[in-house]
Amino acid sequence: MQLPVQCRLCPRQCGANRAAGEAGRCGAADTLLVARAALHHWEEPCLSGPPEAQTGSGTVFFTGCPLGCCYCQNYPISQQGLGKAIDAARLEEIFLELQAAGAKNLNLVTATQWLPWVLPALRGARARGLHIPVVYNTGGYERPQVVKALARDVDIWLADLKYASPALGAELSGAEDYNRVALAALRQMLEQTGVPRFDGEGYLQKGVIIRHLVLPGHTADSLEVVRQMAALRQQTGVAFLSSFMSQFTPFYQASRHGLNRRITSYEYRKVVDAAIAVGLTDGYMQEKSSAREEYTPPFDLEGV
Ligand code: SF4
Repeated sequence: MQLPVQCRLCPRQCGANRAAGEAGRCGAADTLLVARAALHHWEEPCLSGPPEAQTGSGTVFFTGCPLGCCYCQNYPISQQGLGKAIDAARLEEIFLELQAAGAKNLNLVTATQWLPWVLPALRGARARGLHIPVVYNTGGYERPQVVKALARDVDIWLADLKYASPALGAELSGAEDYNRVALAALRQMLEQTGVPRFDGEGYLQKGVIIRHLVLPGHTADSLEVVRQMAALRQQTGVAFLSSFMSQFTPFYQASRHGLNRRITSYEYRKVVDAAIAVGLTDGYMQEKSSAREEYTPPFDLEGV
């Protein structure tokens, strides 16, 4: 993949001349930036294993983000440019180092803006023995064409469905089209990946996990997201794992947008009960007390 002269990698399609060094709306220009590469123990158990295990998900945090949510817990890397400049050859080494360290999978966090580096690195690493599943960890705001182009490279889609309401997408992520775009992307992920498949130890090898972070004061929108997830399963006929997250903490600019508290047990329970009622029982829910600092890894350029 060439560095784009008019970048259209993500749904923003901002047209930045990346080849000439122009940064796009996501913050990405012509030099790959990576903020962290390490074993991560706080993804869903089918990816990370139990917290006490010596393994984990081999997670690579890429700098920048096409979405840019006002409450992002990773905002120093997603929106403030924290990262180290590396090339595709170093990224290939990082992938192999994570596997050698015992990673159960390679977990690429917000990688779309860097695909011209990520794809050659992945393919190079595969040729040199990378055999663990590749997880594409995304806010869900992806172009279906790009999802399709990754069919041979990505085994597991770990994708958010953040909002149903266009107004909420506009307010919190500057993306009024978020819901429409994310639903189309999820459909493509499900069609090309198929039903979840696990190895003998219960680690996911193939499939889609749809995540939803419950936001304070927005349970009505969450209930619509639940309804859409159930409809997605019915329309595609493809099962997926769902993950309802309770860890919202008012990071970054959240309080300016009315998100100034954690969610209540009542709010979370209401969403989970609705999910159970529509049959979304394959997956994960969290204890309310799990809003812990461990979910936010240290941004210290480890492993890069
Ligand atoms: S990936 Fe970045 S540069 Fe490319 S279209 Fe999206 S926002 Fe623009």
